[in-house]
Amino acid sequence: MSETADLKTIIRDVPDFPKKGILFKDITTLLARPDIFKRVIDQIADHFQQKKIEKVMGIESRGFIFGAPIAYKLNAGIVPIRKKGKLPYKTVSATYALEYGTDTLEMHEDAISKGTRVLIVDDLLATGGTAKATAELVEKCGGEIVGFAFLIELEFLKGRQNLNGYDILSLIKY
Ligand code: AMP
Repeated sequence: MSETADLKTIIRDVPDFPKKGILFKDITTLLARPDIFKRVIDQIADHFQQKKIEKVMGIESRGFIFGAPIAYKLNAGIVPIRKKGKLPYKTVSATYALEYGTDTLEMHEDAISKGTRVLIVDDLLATGGTAKATAELVEKCGGEIVGFAFLIELEFLKGRQNLNGYDILSLIKY
């Protein structure tokens, strides 16, 4: 069995969550396995080890779970990218389209500075709207996006097209 096939059997598919027609990729079954969790963190950190990452941007909320150990392994800081209204200090914000309406992500304005080398991390790349909004936050503060890392990529949603030109690592593709 290939490594990817093996990971696919560990992720649980939950149909019609959070609403009808969505096949939700439940990663809690993977997080609960210490051997597998370690393997995916190591694989992502290894890929970016030589890239001089200074800050990892973890996207709320499952991006925090992967972002923090990756940052630790890369000797980088971790920056929380949060939904609107959660961060206590001055923020920059980026709004992106959802299926119905919009959502806004925020980052502390002093979380990174001009030229900071960053890696953007989330559990899953779907349409790419969330990741692209995070890239906007980084660019507003003059940061340099070295790459994106996801555990899962839903290729049929073509999120990569939203992130053209960047180094994008995803370990499991559907
Ligand atoms: P998008 O902005 O469309 O790329 O969506 C990515 C965000 O939505 C990530 O933070 C994912 O955790 C979440 N997400 C989108 N689709 C799914 C799915 N099918 N299963 C689990 N999480 C999803």
